[in-house]
Parts: sequence; structure tokens; C-alpha cells
Amino acid sequence: MKHNNSIACTVDECKYHCKEDNYCTLEKIQVAKHESVAHSVECTDCNSFEKEN
Ligand code: SF4
Repeated sequence: MKHNNSIACTVDECKYHCKEDNYCTLEKIQVAKHESVAHSVECTDCNSFEKEN
């Protein structure tokens, strides 16, 4: 699968995930926080995630 070498990702439940080698297939993703102030990596998310069917 063609993927973006600049976006490594291990979220294999996402429909944009390249399962062969753990990358994202999108050209660009949106990263965001789900707390008003982010204090750790757990406060951040990939907002481009979409559940695989
Ligand atoms: S959209 Fe986000 S979660 Fe989905 S494969 Fe790309 S980087 Fe990973």
C-alpha cells in the first residue's frame, strides 16, 4: 500500500493505516488535543482517524 513516509502510525483500527509497515496513507493529518491544556502525550489525538469498516 502507498503510504506517507513522514507519518508513522500504529493505529491499525484506522481505515487510513498502512498495515504492511505501520504508516499513514494520508497526505496530511490533523493532530489535536482533547484537554484544554495538554500535559502529556495521552492528551493528544489524531483527528483524521476514521474507524475501519
Ligand atoms: S489518520 Fe491518523 S490514526 Fe489514521 S492512520 Fe493516519 S495517522 Fe494513523
